[in-house]
Amino acid sequence: FSGNDDLKALIRTIPDFPKPGIQFRDITSLLLDGAGFSVCVDRLTALAAPLRPDLIAAVEARGFIFGAAIAKSLGVGVLPIRKPGKLPGARVGVDYALEYGTDRLEMHAHDLQPATRVLIVDDLIATGGTVMATVELIRNHGGVVAGAVFAVDLPDLGGAARLRDAGVETLSLMAFE
Ligand code: 5GP
Repeated sequence: FSGNDDLKALIRTIPDFPKPGIQFRDITSLLLDGAGFSVCVDRLTALAAPLRPDLIAAVEARGFIFGAAIAKSLGVGVLPIRKPGKLPGARVGVDYALEYGTDRLEMHAHDLQPATRVLIVDDLIATGGTVMATVELIRNHGGVVAGAVFAVDLPDLGGAARLRDAGVETLSLMAFE
């Protein structure tokens, strides 16, 4: 039981998005609520602080919103993890499998000093594919994954379990079965 029912009530469920049969958990309704967003960021920061991150890796695009706010609260910097072709400097990437096809995430190549403790932040974890790719990117380029923090977990899709199997401390505020 993770509680946070006050915040769960601010998340809207949109049926059949982006395709039939998917129940999309829409965090934009939470973002619109100033008090709700503030409380959400405070609680995410409380989960994040004991992991002692040096840097927040924020995953495009909704992860930027929560990741930047947590970074500001902790007084640490932000490492943007981006879709291909967005970063201007020398970059490194990792390809990962989707249900159909593949996708890719990139970061700047020289941003991580050795042993930098990086905390991954995204709005939601489903199958864990996006965050596992981010873990690989950080570990392959000198960083230490301090953990991963999400506003929402969909535990039935197994992503959080997959991350924990990979040795990543994984925390979230809300779960939708
Ligand atoms: P995964 O890679 O864990 O299967 O999917 C997680 C990624 O897809 C996250 O970046 C998340 O933003 C997005 N995502 C997948 N399902 C949902 C959903 O129901 N609601 C929201 N807000 N994002 C989703």
